[in-house]
Amino acid sequence: MKIAILPGDGIGKEIVAEAVKVLHALELPFEGETALVGGAAYEAHGHPLPESTLALAKQSDAILFGAVGDWKYDQLERSLRPEQAILGLRKALGLFANLRPAICHAPLVGASSLKPELIAGLDLLIIRELTGDIYFGQPRGRRIASDGHFPGSEEAFDTMRYSRPEIERIAHVAFQAARKRGKKVTSVDKANVLETFQFWKDVVTDVGREYPDVALDHMYVDNAAMQLVKAPKKFDVVVTGNMFGDILSDEAAMLTGSIGMLPSASLNASNQGLYEPSHGSAPDIAGQGIANPLATIMSAAMMLRFSLNQAEAADRIEAAVARVLEQGLRTPDIHSEGTTRVGTAEMGDAVVKALRA
Ligand code: NAD
Repeated sequence: MKIAILPGDGIGKEIVAEAVKVLHALELPFEGETALVGGAAYEAHGHPLPESTLALAKQSDAILFGAVGDWKYDQLERSLRPEQAILGLRKALGLFANLRPAICHAPLVGASSLKPELIAGLDLLIIRELTGDIYFGQPRGRRIASDGHFPGSEEAFDTMRYSRPEIERIAHVAFQAARKRGKKVTSVDKANVLETFQFWKDVVTDVGREYPDVALDHMYVDNAAMQLVKAPKKFDVVVTGNMFGDILSDEAAMLTGSIGMLPSASLNASNQGLYEPSHGSAPDIAGQGIANPLATIMSAAMMLRFSLNQAEAADRIEAAVARVLEQGLRTPDIHSEGTTRVGTAEMGDAVVKALRA
């Protein structure tokens, strides 16, 4: 098992160090190699995704990624900004499936802005298609309108499109994930208005016939946005396109109320994946030793489950995280009265201790 370790910028270095600590504690035979990415790579090599980092990522079974970015790079031309490293990795590795679980750990039920009874026991998985849709469709641009409501005026346009194989492969990811969970897939579309999403619905329905053991339903995106806050526990696996997934995965993530707790995975067709917390590099708290490492530690658990075929080790990490939360240990972002405030390294140490207990 070869893992590319790309800590990145800001709190990235601090939280990845804790995840690596936890991986070592499992005593699995893995080889980890660290490389620069994002602003740190720009400083050293003049590019956020240097050739050497990309080569390491390609040779690895999985990538453990921290976060990239800092406001000080906002003036750089777009292609050199730290965030381009993630886009470059997604493209080079063909990472088309983004998996974001939203799990409410019982001791953190109060962190959500929703009522406890709506959120207690929440365990849903949003699967977002990551390389197609209106974000990448051509043609796109600005021009002088030749028709429409205001011919002769300046206009901008993008193209929404999906091919059958693109929809089929993300649908398979969703059905296969559902098989290992609650056996239910909700496909989110806008088939009532968009041709692209009527096609999406048709293709997902076709793929669904290959999974008679998994229930499939379809929901319009506007209704899905409402149901996610009204009755989020009704969902098991949600699968949708790039743009709807962008919005719904952030909404679902926030159901749990704590950004420092949310892992994510981006997979390609051979289950090679990039694993990262859902949050950014948090420059406002970098270097203070107070960042929550649990999203990154749980991203490492996802890595073991989805790319490295080590489901048992993944279960052990998740159980250890649940245990430290039950013990009342909290980094400042999830701290509340009556719990014990700890720093980044202390939280990592506590997970290691719980793993060994
Ligand atoms: P952010 O997610 O970095 O931070 C938002 C807020 O959440 C901040 O107050 C931060 O302190 C807090 N926070 C985030 N992670 C935390 C953690 N683990 N523990 C405790 N608190 C945490 O978002 P932002 O401030 O909008 O962006 C900062 C930088 O990160 C920008 O340069 C942005 O482009 C970049 N970014 C990178 C990624 C990525 O690497 N995938 C994702 C989002 C943003």
